[in-house]
Amino acid sequence: MPTYKEITCKSILSRSRIADVDYSINPYIGCEHGCVYCYARFMGRRRGHLEEWGEFVDIKVNAPQVFSREITRVKMGPVLLSSVTDPYQPAESKYQLTRQILKRLLHYDYPTSILTKSALVERDIDLLQRFKNCQVGVTVVVLNEEVGRAFEPYSSLPKDRFNALKRLVENGVQTYLFLGPMLPGFSEEDLEEILDECKRVGVHHVLFDKLNIKYGNWSSITRVLDSEFPERKEEWKNALLQKGYYKRLKNRIETLGAEKELSLISCY
Ligand code: SF4
Repeated sequence: MPTYKEITCKSILSRSRIADVDYSINPYIGCEHGCVYCYARFMGRRRGHLEEWGEFVDIKVNAPQVFSREITRVKMGPVLLSSVTDPYQPAESKYQLTRQILKRLLHYDYPTSILTKSALVERDIDLLQRFKNCQVGVTVVVLNEEVGRAFEPYSSLPKDRFNALKRLVENGVQTYLFLGPMLPGFSEEDLEEILDECKRVGVHHVLFDKLNIKYGNWSSITRVLDSEFPERKEEWKNALLQKGYYKRLKNRIETLGAEKELSLISCY
């Protein structure tokens, strides 16, 4: 169980350098999903946290009110919830900051996109289906539950994430599957089944990306490989050091995607 701390923020709309996103909104600092490969772990150091990534969550309790103030002062542009946290991590069940911010975004009808690994996103279908321009991305990188528990210990099970996607699609919300970052070997083993699930639930498109180890995540990845999958470590090193691995994987995804008539977008 992570340590929760209620804090106040001065600002909640951050200018974003992500393609097609003008602003990101992060109602929480830290993420109790605690993914081993997470790129956002620098946020802990930046905010002076000594705990491991996943063991702390700062809750910006005044975020909805600050958002209401800020939104009237900026030029309208696409918003992402969230870039360095999961907006539907367990704390959201209690605090409902994402939901309150969504209500305000809906009021102004801001183009909004969401990215999560949590089935809790289903709770807000009543709001999401009323946006003119909104899309919800749900991340799935493996289906194997043992591998998932090792690398994404506290997020929703992949089958629950697909069920959430299905409910979103059935309720008219535009969705996509984020297949990233793809874990060497493991994601490839589940690839065909993941794409079949995408077809079954009817996602609008599949966005895929490779794993990057530039973000201080390699030491936590190594710990998991050493303790849970020592026989796979060499394979990971080869995949990450040799450019050919992800190129081959991309070709395979494109071939399978074409066979299954899925719309694909590559991040690399
Ligand atoms: S859900 Fe996203 S933000 Fe949270 S730990 Fe995992 S990768 Fe990081």
